[in-house]
Amino acid sequence: MLTNHSTVYLVGAGPGDPDLLTIKALSLIQSADIIVYDRLISREILALVPTGTKKIYVGKASGQHYMNQDEINELLVKLAKSARQTKPRKIVRLKGGDPFIFGRGSEEAQYLVQQGVPFEYIPGITAALACSAYAGIPLTHRGVARSVRLITGHCKSNQALDLNWKSLADEQTTLVFYMGLASLPQLRAELINAGLPADTPSAVIENGTSQSQRRCISALHKLPQAVNKMDIKSPALIVVGEVVNFAEQLDWFTPGLNNIDKSSSDNYYANEILHNDYKEHI
Ligand code: SAH
Repeated sequence: MLTNHSTVYLVGAGPGDPDLLTIKALSLIQSADIIVYDRLISREILALVPTGTKKIYVGKASGQHYMNQDEINELLVKLAKSARQTKPRKIVRLKGGDPFIFGRGSEEAQYLVQQGVPFEYIPGITAALACSAYAGIPLTHRGVARSVRLITGHCKSNQALDLNWKSLADEQTTLVFYMGLASLPQLRAELINAGLPADTPSAVIENGTSQSQRRCISALHKLPQAVNKMDIKSPALIVVGEVVNFAEQLDWFTPGLNNIDKSSSDNYYANEILHNDYKEHI
């Protein structure tokens, strides 16, 4: 009987900038036998995967079939229990941001436990933390915001977002909406209706932390128009609260500056070689 010690590593890849990977995530990416990844994994991070590693894409591709959650759960178990393996496999399930924040990582973990497959969990920097930081927005600030709410703005097609709007309408709380672009007009109306001032500073961050990051900053009531004007697309994160006022003053990140070197795996490895070379000569 095959004693199976293959392990699935649920790894957070952060929001896109490869420099925001944890050391543990990078080391697993470089030593995995198989990597199962989805749509939010950036090209730059995929470039860190060694050439021989098997990569399985399970994200959406427009108009084509993609794996649903049950199929992904099943795939992970099959990979771990495959009769083909001659030695235990290291299977990396790579997810954008943090797998346990709106990433369904906990559903995958539950299924692995039920099926007797060992798993380990490696947290990643979630979009709320990274995108707001790269947009110059501190999520809390003494005297301005004393709590943060991470909220999903996702709703099934043709259905309204059903949230406790009254509890969200607090001027000293920063609201961060994931997957909220499509429901932005409703979101604005409900928050204002629940008592949040119409001129509450708000931001939408598109492709946060990447070299193509864009920020759209506006008063809450004008946010949908501002977003349309800039033609903001997903992935985008919505931040609502007084802390958005810091965005101009703390605007430290200039997208596009590091375009050279970052997109190519050749350059990444070339840098390593140069570094070793240098050490040999001292
Ligand atoms: N597990 C992920 C979130 C997955 S839900 C995490 O912890 O970050 C997907 C949503 O996350 C997107 O619709 C968007 O709202 C947000 N998101 C993820 N990466 C982003 C990025 N680089 N820029 C802007 N929003 C991002």
